[in-house]
Amino acid sequence: MFGIYIHIPFCKQACHYCNYHFSTTLKHKVRLVKAIGKELILRKDELQGEAKTIYFGGGTPSLLNEEELNYLFQIISEHYKIAEDAEITIETNPDDLTEEKLQMLAKTPINRLSIGVQSFYDADLVWMNRAHNASEAMSSLHLAKKYFPNITIDLIYGIPQMDNKRWEQTLDTAFRLKIPHISFYALTVEPDTALERFIDKKKSPKVEDDHAYAHYRILQRKAKEANYQNYEFSNFSKTGYYSQNNMAYWSGRTYLGIGPGAHGYNGKQRCWNIANNLLYAKKLEAGELALECEELSVFDQYNEYVMTRFRTLKGMSLEVLKQRFGNELYQYALEQAKMHLQAGRLEIAGNYMRVTEEGRFQTDGMSGDLFYV
Ligand code: SF4
Repeated sequence: MFGIYIHIPFCKQACHYCNYHFSTTLKHKVRLVKAIGKELILRKDELQGEAKTIYFGGGTPSLLNEEELNYLFQIISEHYKIAEDAEITIETNPDDLTEEKLQMLAKTPINRLSIGVQSFYDADLVWMNRAHNASEAMSSLHLAKKYFPNITIDLIYGIPQMDNKRWEQTLDTAFRLKIPHISFYALTVEPDTALERFIDKKKSPKVEDDHAYAHYRILQRKAKEANYQNYEFSNFSKTGYYSQNNMAYWSGRTYLGIGPGAHGYNGKQRCWNIANNLLYAKKLEAGELALECEELSVFDQYNEYVMTRFRTLKGMSLEVLKQRFGNELYQYALEQAKMHLQAGRLEIAGNYMRVTEEGRFQTDGMSGDLFYV
């Protein structure tokens, strides 16, 4: 079993905080879709078994039209075995989700919509330079629910001008809409983004960790009241709606990363495509892959194991840790975890070491403390 991630590298405009790979020039879209199709064919035998998840990410995959999506699905169905119950997700932006578009998407094999709402407030959406407004966010959700029972939305917390009250109202709105799955991301200042430049030039307030932490604590409380399970650090779900794509990633399953800038994992190597649309297209047009790979050392694999498992509710299996990485790394992990276990940020439950509710916001920092460098 494996996953297929397909990166669609186009956006209408650049959000101020974003450092993903995308282009706002759509004129090469057809050429790129063809190149993505070629890559899918060239790599069809790389991973064995059935594809259990297919994920169109980006970028903004909802910029693909019917012909382009059907073209990619045609190639996938001809060259890959797809599990009958495969989760097939497409990321969309609210401004693309007209009734016509939703009808078209519902006719494809896609069975899960991910909608980039980010905020229900115009002030935040303008500040982030999103292409949609608050009213489009709302109307897209009402429309989407008519066509897709399985929906997830993204919301961003820790926005400087968003006080706790507005964050609580945001959560009330999201939970009232009965969306089965929500991913919450802390606003971060990535290198080479407009947001970083605005902060450097003092045109924007700083993004503060304490502010994000306060929002995360509110989120934990309100999500529990609304019966959402915090099954992974950023992901909250109603029963039966865990994201198969996310779970596969956090449990170390292999996946193909297709498209410019896409990353993949084959169990021993991390591979990534060149993050340049035209160079990617030229390579594929010449019948070559635009891929680079690096072997993961046993220490890389150990670090990855700690990082991914700590983000899940279940945590990290101590038995697997010992069997897979040996007694020395097992002892090292226990030693490094000691201070967090004593402080109640980590706990051992049965044969698993996991992050407590109290420690959740520090998950990545604690993983870093256990890393072998
Ligand atoms: S729409 Fe998504 S990928 Fe595109 S710029 Fe905004 S955050 Fe980045």
